[in-house]
Order: sequence, then structure tokens, then C-alpha cells
Amino acid sequence: MIIKSKQTTLAYRCPSCGAGVMSAVDIFKLSADMVKLKCDCSQSSMTAVYVKDEKNPKVRLTVPCIFCPNPHTFTVSSSIFFKDELFLLPCPYSDITVAVTGETDRVKAELSRSELELIELLEKSGISSLDEIPRKTDNDAEQNPEIVETVLHALRMLDSEGSIECGCPKGEGDYEISLNGGEAIIECKRCKQKKALRADSLMQAHALLELDKLTLEPTT
Ligand SMILES: [Zn+2]
Ligand SMILES: [Zn+2]
Ligand SMILES: [Zn+2]
Repeated sequence: MIIKSKQTTLAYRCPSCGAGVMSAVDIFKLSADMVKLKCDCSQSSMTAVYVKDEKNPKVRLTVPCIFCPNPHTFTVSSSIFFKDELFLLPCPYSDITVAVTGETDRVKAELSRSELELIELLEKSGISSLDEIPRKTDNDAEQNPEIVETVLHALRMLDSEGSIECGCPKGEGDYEISLNGGEAIIECKRCKQKKALRADSLMQAHALLELDKLTLEPTT
């Protein structure tokens, strides 16, 4: 019997520059130490940590999100993580995929598929390649009325389509949008659930236009 080292390919999309970041992950290396993927632009990174558990070993992933100001944490069973099939990790508040694992070629194919999607989206603002995405600066949101306008427009569209979910029965939420520096905050005036979204770059603002739904969260 040949014992094959379990290996998979892990990838995420950098929320800052839009590049796909990919790395092979080996089970022996992962069980010895944390694996960190970092984007070439040095603005984002994701981590994978092996959680030792005799019966059901797991992998804990911390992934930055294009929409959410804070990264998302996922705990995935090691057997799923090291499977060849494509495994997509979605943002819990929107419907976008923030990370993928699987066999290298499948992950590559998924990255180019989602990159095309992103570029198609950005073409509306005259961007035809990810290299043309303006790099974000600290006061982008204040300076760029286009970002503000795009974010407001995207959120109003979601609202008018009834695609925002909160603690209220469907269709009864009453939403208020406010902008605070590089964040857009959408809050339901009835149930007080809210969600902060990044609104600090044109790429994020335009990606918001593609959202099919947005879920607010209870305030703690
Ligand atoms: Zn980057
Ligand atoms: Zn998210
Ligand atoms: Zn509500």
C-alpha cells in the first residue's frame, strides 16, 4: 500500500487588490504549524490552523472578506478540507465565496471564473483588468463620491428588491444607511439588527452591486 501525503490547494481573493492568492497545503506541515497565505500587495492574508482531535481533526480558517470589515472564521473537518473536490467557503452575510479548497486545477479554474466575474463587474466603471484597480488610501471614501454613491445605490437596490434579511418578518424591516469613514452601516430601525460593510474602495463598492442578498446581525 502506498501512503500518500494528504495535500490540497487553498485560495482566497484579496479584498484590497482583487488578486487570487493560492498555496498548496500539506497535512504534515499544517499539523506542525499554522499556514499563512499572504497577498503580494501585502494588504491581506489568510491563515489555516490544524485542530488536533482524535476522532474528527479539523482545520480552522480565517479569511478576509471583500464586504465585511472583519475576517470570517470557518472550522472545516480535515477530511473535507483535504478532499479533491472543490469546497467553497461563503461569507455568512452575503452570497460570495471568500475561500476555496480542492485539487489544484479545480481551484485554479474557480479562481479564473470568479476573476472574470469580478472584471465583468468592474468594466462598468471602465476597469478591464485587475491591475487597473485603484489602490485604496485611508481617506478614499471621503474623497471619492463615486464610492459613496455606488455603495448607497447598491444597498438601496437590495432594500427595494426585498433582499435584506433582519429579525423582522419578511418585508417589514425599515432600513437606514449611514457612512462612517471606510464603512457603510445598514441598520433596521425596527429590530435594531445591523451590518457594517467595507466601503473603502471602488472594487468593493462595485462588488456590492452583484449581491443577491444581505443578512443583518443582532447587536450584542
Ligand atoms: Zn492584494
Ligand atoms: Zn463577509
Ligand atoms: Zn428588522
